[in-house]
Formats: sequence, C-alpha cells, structure tokens
Amino acid sequence: MTTPVVGIDIGGTKTAAALVDRTGRVLERREAPTPARSGPEAVLDVAARLATDLLGATAGPLGVGTAGTVDPATGSIRYATDSLPGWTGIPVADELATRLGRNVRVTNDVNAAALGESWAGAGRDRAHILLVAVGTGLGGAIIRNDRVEAGARGVAGEVGHLPAPGAERLRCGCGRHGHLEAIASGSGLAAAYAIETGIHVTGRTVAERAATGDGAAQRVVERAGAVLGATLAGLVALLDPDAVLVAGGAAGSLLPAASAAYSAEVPAGWADVPLLPAALGTDAVLVGAARLAIDRPHIEGTNR
Ligand SMILES: [Zn+2]
Repeated sequence: MTTPVVGIDIGGTKTAAALVDRTGRVLERREAPTPARSGPEAVLDVAARLATDLLGATAGPLGVGTAGTVDPATGSIRYATDSLPGWTGIPVADELATRLGRNVRVTNDVNAAALGESWAGAGRDRAHILLVAVGTGLGGAIIRNDRVEAGARGVAGEVGHLPAPGAERLRCGCGRHGHLEAIASGSGLAAAYAIETGIHVTGRTVAERAATGDGAAQRVVERAGAVLGATLAGLVALLDPDAVLVAGGAAGSLLPAASAAYSAEVPAGWADVPLLPAALGTDAVLVGAARLAIDRPHIEGTNR
C-alpha cells in the first residue's frame, strides 16, 4: 500500500487535518478554528469537513488525536477539560465514522504526538520512547514496541502528576499540590514567578523575560527545567526507553536546565539514553494520527 492516509488533530482552539504519506511526510493540510463553544456536534462537523477535503486520494481508516482522555477500547472520550465543553462521553470514533463512512481510530493528542515523533520525528528508528509535552500543562506518553502504551484508562505516561521537589506550594491542574506539572509547565512558570515577584504574567512571558536577562524569571525557568530533567532521569530506569523527547511550546526554554539535570541524574546503566527536543512541532499530532490509520492497531488494548 502506497496511498497516503488522513490524520486529524482536534485541539481546544484549532482543528487540523493532513494528508500524510507512508513515510510520515505531510503532503497537504487543512486547518480551522475549533468551534468549542458551539458544542461537540459542531467540533465533529468541522473535523469531518476538513478530513473530507483530503479523503479522495486515500483508502481505509483515518486516525485522530484529540484533547482529552480517550478510552482505548472504544475511541470515546472518557474525560475532557473545559477547553472542549461537552466533549466528555462523546464517541468520537463512531461519530466521525458515521460522518465519513470510514473506520476511525482515536487516541489522546499527546499519545498521537509521541507516535508521530517515533515514526517520523526525533524518535525515528527508535521503538521505545518516553515523550513529555510541555505547554500550558505537562502531558506525557509512552511508546513501546512502536505502539502507544495506553494503559487501562488511556492515560499511561501522564508524568505531570508525579511528585516534584520545589512544587509543594504550587497547585497542579489536577487539583492537588506538589506535582511536576505544577512547576514544569507554562502555568507552573507563571505561578512560580508570581510567588517570587508578585507579578502575574503568562508562562510564555516568564520564558521571554528569562531569555532577556530577568533574574527572577531565570531562576524560575532553571528550577522548573532542573526538576523536569531529574524526574525524566528517574523515569528511564522505570521504562528503559531508547530516547526521551521533550515537545511543546515551553520545551525550548526548559531544555537547557532539563538537559543538565538529566545528564547529572540519569543512572549509569542508562547514560546512553538521550534527552532530545521533539522535531515535528505542531505536525506531530497529525503525523501520529495518520500513523494510527496504517497497518495495524497502534494502541495497546484496542482491536480497532
Ligand atoms: Zn497533578
């Protein structure tokens, strides 16, 4: 089979679809704002419309990476935050299959990004990967034997909720305190900077201030990166991956401190496991979603 496949990326602000060839190269893409406030039906309609534009050259199933927790057995949303109101409980695989007349395989967007990076990005030719995505929050995903390790609930690899030294006063997105996401994420940078300076800005602004010499911002970014790197160093002993990848909008600012801490902390038996920046940027979810559509199921625990 050499025909391309279609991957879809459904996020809280943007929905995209891409025609992807069998080497993981994006041939064409379509994009539109996600009509999140108009409800799930409108979101599904936009995703289906973008995909329909590209389906002509393809055959077989489509893949989807979406915000939220996905039941690996059914392709339904187990849980989604307010970024997609009403998304919880929506049977995305079945709804899109009805609209498109094709089988549809669905996974969480961070799982899809990890699958994309392992296929055609920084993890190319590596069968075992841990990927963390540092954006507003901190997501994670595990690729084992070229497949997403979804776990029992579709959320294996969510490293953001591991305990993190230095985060004790910071509230995590899950509601508890002291987790890695509460310090090593955009929202974590913002919260730590506010505690340090009394100034409330976004995580992106903290990163920009660190880059232009703001001492408080530099300390916040360094602490966050160091905790991230040390945590990832411990995780390689648990997962024994071929590589650890750091993706997401805040990856660039955290990577220098994360790499230094990772190298210092990684156990000797895994000293050859590299910590690498992800390579596909915002295409990673689309490419990984396309990968889902090819060959065989790429998610543990599903028969779709
Ligand atoms: Zn948490």
